Amino acid sequence: MDGYRKFLFGVAMLLACLGCGQESSTTTSPSTQAPVGSVFQLHGDTMGVRWNVTTIGLNGDLAKLTVALQDAVGQVDEHMSTYKPDSEISRFGMAPANQDFAVSADTAFVVQEAQRISALTKGAFDATVMPLVDLWGFGPAETSPTAPTKEQIAEALSRCGYSNLAFSEEDPRVMVKTTAGLRLDLSAIAKGYGVDAMCAVLDAANHENYLVEVGGELRVKGVSIDGTPWRIGIDTPRDMTLLGTQLQGAIEVGGIAIATSGDYRNYRELNGKRISHIIDPRTGYPVNHGLASVSILAPTCLEADALATACMVLGPEQAMALIERLDGIEIFLIVREGEEFLERKSAGFPEIETL
Ligand code: ADP
Ligand code: MG
Repeated sequence: MDGYRKFLFGVAMLLACLGCGQESSTTTSPSTQAPVGSVFQLHGDTMGVRWNVTTIGLNGDLAKLTVALQDAVGQVDEHMSTYKPDSEISRFGMAPANQDFAVSADTAFVVQEAQRISALTKGAFDATVMPLVDLWGFGPAETSPTAPTKEQIAEALSRCGYSNLAFSEEDPRVMVKTTAGLRLDLSAIAKGYGVDAMCAVLDAANHENYLVEVGGELRVKGVSIDGTPWRIGIDTPRDMTLLGTQLQGAIEVGGIAIATSGDYRNYRELNGKRISHIIDPRTGYPVNHGLASVSILAPTCLEADALATACMVLGPEQAMALIERLDGIEIFLIVREGEEFLERKSAGFPEIETL
């Protein structure tokens, strides 16, 4: 496999902020480089995961900032959750076909971005995949202990397809489904958007140096505590390993978002076979091609998040070809081959420092 480098251990990748985890604000530790200010670490819960913000040189009211951050990411969850029956996305799922459905500006933006990424990836990413996600046991619906039949898959597929969703030309906040039973799942893009929404809060409050993370998807700005670039930990991946507990390496980044999608943490077993939570919306089946993990660097976390999932669907060769074509976006992927894991990255992906 050309261009791949062999790893000693089974490796998949997750991202964690090195040094995160302190409960309250701290001051700079002594450093040979000039400290840029005090470091503050804020936390909360959203979308079934934890959010973490590290900001440096805070200027203002910490409690007020925490509330503003929680409100920003909480609103994403309120509007876009598939687990909340009264979210905009859940109500849209219940709405009949060919009927205008008005949503908030943030939901409209995220769905329009989802549609753009679907077109870019020729349907590898598809937010209308919800009926298939439920059928394979990864959605809010009751999980069946047996694999779905071909007929069930065909029926669910008939209710999917991003081309069956349109926006009104008069009002960009009005969407309409052209197929009955079409439902949206923004799970592969909303966490990334939540990160971006929190970054907007920090930008509005003039924060220059920060790291924002929601469930492993993250974005950084400026520099870290001692004025050096942010270092992002890369997990040594073992099945079900907790985020950030075993680090394999680290990269240094600035002013960028990074998201990882993989098949080693969220999966179930059916008839002794591992079933990935990432579904190929073109076939109706979970992905199954040896790609263990994809990490994407992008200007926004929304793009990084969605493209990471899309690349898991595309597989290593097509994923690499797609990302090489896109300006300002880089990829790191890990492929299973027998007992070994092979890694490959695009030309602009940072050097991975072994820890
Ligand atoms: P995670 O949410 O576990 O971090 P991802 O960001 O890759 O992982 O999102 C995976 C989730 O997205 C799945 O659990 C499912 O709800 C949804 N999904 C699965 N396949 C697709 C797909 N091809 N396009 C868009 N969303 C998908
Ligand atoms: Mg994703």
